[in-house]
Amino acid sequence: MRDATIAEKTTPYWWDAAPVRPIPARPLPQAVDVAIVGAGFAGLSAGLVLAREGRSVAAFDAMNPGEGASTRNGGITSGNIRLDYATMAKRFGEARAIAVEAEAHAARQFLYRFIAEEGLDCDLQRPGLFKGAIGYAQYDAMARGAEALRKAVGIETWAVPFAEQTAYVGSDFYRGGAVRMDIGGLHPGKLHGEILRIAQEAGLGVHSGTPVTGVTRDGDGFRVATASGTVRARQVLVCTNGYTDGAAPFLRRRLVPVRSRIIVTEALAPEVMARLMPKRMMISEGRQLGHYYRPTPDGRRILLGGRESGHRGNPVGPSLLMRAGLAQIFPELEGVRLSHTWFGNVAMNRDMLPRIFEKDGILYASGFCGSGTVWAPWIGMRAAYKLLGQGARAESAFDFRPPASIPLYRGDPWFMPTIIQGYRLQDRIAMLRARR
Ligand SMILES: Cc1cc2nc3c(=O)[nH]c(=O)nc-3n(C[C@H](O)[C@H](O)[C@H](O)COP(=O)(O)OP(=O)(O)OC[C@H]3O[C@@H](n4cnc5c(N)ncnc54)[C@H](O)[C@@H]3O)c2cc1C
Repeated sequence: MRDATIAEKTTPYWWDAAPVRPIPARPLPQAVDVAIVGAGFAGLSAGLVLAREGRSVAAFDAMNPGEGASTRNGGITSGNIRLDYATMAKRFGEARAIAVEAEAHAARQFLYRFIAEEGLDCDLQRPGLFKGAIGYAQYDAMARGAEALRKAVGIETWAVPFAEQTAYVGSDFYRGGAVRMDIGGLHPGKLHGEILRIAQEAGLGVHSGTPVTGVTRDGDGFRVATASGTVRARQVLVCTNGYTDGAAPFLRRRLVPVRSRIIVTEALAPEVMARLMPKRMMISEGRQLGHYYRPTPDGRRILLGGRESGHRGNPVGPSLLMRAGLAQIFPELEGVRLSHTWFGNVAMNRDMLPRIFEKDGILYASGFCGSGTVWAPWIGMRAAYKLLGQGARAESAFDFRPPASIPLYRGDPWFMPTIIQGYRLQDRIAMLRARR
């Protein structure tokens, strides 16, 4: 470990086994049926469907495909919706709230089927997820929520009282929690590489290192300007999520990129892993700025992620904070050596719901709010069916009005420090209320 760094590598753990690479340069087509901006999970999944339906499709990515969030994430198949059911029902109506919960369940099941049927090699494991409660009041709410989810959507889920907690996580940090068995973990780098492989086999033309610089109307189609030339497209799909730039100004005013960091420990002794993560489950918690963590697929290390705070661009401060967070949960890991630390952008919109929407003839699929391992392939594919005019297959509770724009916002999230402070305060109050 070098003096100035806290970890061996500042690149994602996943890139060791599945490095992101440029696609060999290919000539730009003059015209395509569909141009896709962004070659992460969403763009590639849409491209796969469109290419298999016989459309000519080109996907452009400013970086290497996958170098955005799709190979930087925790690989937890959460399919989470940030808003709780009651808030959703109040904001969007009861029918949409039920539809959203049911679609989350369907999207997870779809991902597992897709991986199996396509034979995608991505270390999928389904040990379930334990969500820890910060206090006993939160535990009671989680227990009620588990009961409701089991009844309404048929998910295998149950509450775990404090006395039984160490069977799920080797820590007394929580006051009990809830388990759901429909959530697992995978290797996102491998999953992205596999979707890229089958999409290219289906005929998707992928152009890496090719930023789209603007999209303009041209008769009944569009002119898509890229750094390597202009392509005419009948339809355009934008899948840029947390990496949206000035080429998609309408989306940019509606999505806030929020930096999220992940650390990975050195390999731990098997008995330590067995004590701390006895069932090898994915773990999340009830704090607003809480952590999510999981064993790496080989079961030897702990990968922990959370919202990045402070020290912009310098990995040491945020990584130290993240490591202190790990030690708060597992005191025996205080000062543990780290093998990797990295960050990526998640994309938040005002109502915290992923979205398919259309504006001026351009289709957008984004706003995955940190849960795109499930949502991005699902929403990307729904968007593709929409472009194909296949109504029933395109149906989605997330296909409705665009998210609201954010006042005085053009891409620099100046208000985020205040919001983070607010969340931090809410967490402190929750911890105090729980007498912690
Ligand atoms: C640290 C971290 C941890 C996460 N953990 C989890 C998790 O455990 N579980 C989970 O479900 N989700 C998680 N997520 C979220 C998940 O990774 C994302 O929601 C998902 O990968 C989004 O996929 P995408 O295809 O929409 O976007 P991305 O994969 O981000 O791809 C967008 C692409 O658009 C390209 N682009 C942008 N502008 C242009 C342009 N003008 N021209 C050409 N290309 C452009 C970018 O280069 C980028 O490659 C995490 C995210 C992060 C950052």
